[in-house]
Amino acid sequence: MVASILDLMKQRVVLLDGGFGTELIQHGFPQGACPEAWNVEKPEVVKAIHKSYFDAGSDAVLTNSFGGNRIKLASHHLEMRCYELNKAAATIANEVKPEGRFVGGSMGPTGKFLEPQGELTEPQSEEAFAEQARGLTDGKADFLLIETHYDLREALAALRGARKASRLPVFVTMTFNRGPRGFFTMMGDSVAQCLEAFEKEGVPVVGANCTLISSDMAELVKDMRGKTKLPIIAQANAGKAALSAEGEVSYAQGMENYLRYIPMIKANGATVIGGCCGTNPEYIKRMAEILKVR
Ligand SMILES: [Zn+2]
Repeated sequence: MVASILDLMKQRVVLLDGGFGTELIQHGFPQGACPEAWNVEKPEVVKAIHKSYFDAGSDAVLTNSFGGNRIKLASHHLEMRCYELNKAAATIANEVKPEGRFVGGSMGPTGKFLEPQGELTEPQSEEAFAEQARGLTDGKADFLLIETHYDLREALAALRGARKASRLPVFVTMTFNRGPRGFFTMMGDSVAQCLEAFEKEGVPVVGANCTLISSDMAELVKDMRGKTKLPIIAQANAGKAALSAEGEVSYAQGMENYLRYIPMIKANGATVIGGCCGTNPEYIKRMAEILKVR
């Protein structure tokens, strides 16, 4: 058995989980509510989703705390419960964690722009992420994942905050759009800028998630591999969501097409692979077979 997820990465490809929001909705989560509140109101539902991913073969699952910083929680008037909701997120994921597997504390963006585009200051952002990291760490997460960030400055503020509050390893994934000049975050950060900044800060594992479908993600991984020697995380979306006349949500790429690029994502240099929006435990089960992790 391996002692840490970093040790496991030295041995083989590590499989993460898939989408969480769509799974919550399948379990009756109402539109517009606060997902993190369910860590205390409906922990059995959150645990069942985590368990479905562990059963599918995930080496690690990410906690239900993507929007768990106090700035994001304020939109639900729950900012005073930041610590509690994050601690609960990690605690309940641990309750269904099999031996030798891991729980990653998810830390998504605040959703607000930093100065000068917005009103948020870097110290405010840093403090918000420190508070969240404290809760996730006290709930016994095995590592922290700053994920889906689209502003390098905020990702770095989150990194400082997480490190101030926690001694856990902190990984970072950014979300990139594909344009004619290559891959850039919404705020215009290039792949090279992001990787350089994270290497300078000593981030042990870096990568990308969300926005891109698996074929584009394979290209991005290749680009990243040429620019860093660090282990790379890749979690692609399953395409744009579409609503049918019957109210069924489907994702444009389709599962078979999505899975076709998983071997390429690995061959191009990803060490940690999972799914993002639109993927579910069935995708992960198939990915476990393709990547031979179980
Ligand atoms: Zn996503």
